[in-house]
Amino acid sequence: MWFFLDPSNKIIDVSPDWDSQAGTLGGALVARRGIVGRSLWDFVNGAETRSYLNAVFFWCRQSGRGLSLPNRCDAPNLRRECRMDIAPDSEGGLEVRHHLLAETPVAGQKLSGTDAPGQQCSQCLRWEGPDGWRDLMIATPPQATFVTYVICPDCRRAANHALGRDSNGAGGLGD
Ligand SMILES: [Zn+2]
Repeated sequence: MWFFLDPSNKIIDVSPDWDSQAGTLGGALVARRGIVGRSLWDFVNGAETRSYLNAVFFWCRQSGRGLSLPNRCDAPNLRRECRMDIAPDSEGGLEVRHHLLAETPVAGQKLSGTDAPGQQCSQCLRWEGPDGWRDLMIATPPQATFVTYVICPDCRRAANHALGRDSNGAGGLGD
């Protein structure tokens, strides 16, 4: 599935299979007709995720080069490994395509209220806890409004690496 962005990151087209696929993609439970014509940022949770995507999109547009980044697009009880391919055109447009690489059924864990973490990486979907970043399938995840979506250090490093920068380099995504 894919969508196409104009130079101002407005969604101007969405793949015909969107409605059949979007229902199973974690962050994209919006029908095709509700997306086209809107800003991508209306559908991205968290300032940190917006700034991360903005940096990646800027790099693609400036360099005229495509980029692939791994991410997760889990559905309830399904661990889904995905890859996001970003391809610029010559007029500042971007095609963003999601490929499903692997899908594994996983029973969601039940967490007590006090265990439920509040900070999640929007790319790898790991949760930050006292012992670091944990790969949890939570049976009843907290509502999006109670989650702070961020970019974890590993995903930041992966993006910096893909952009050909070390994480401390000027213009990088930080760490
Ligand atoms: Zn991450």
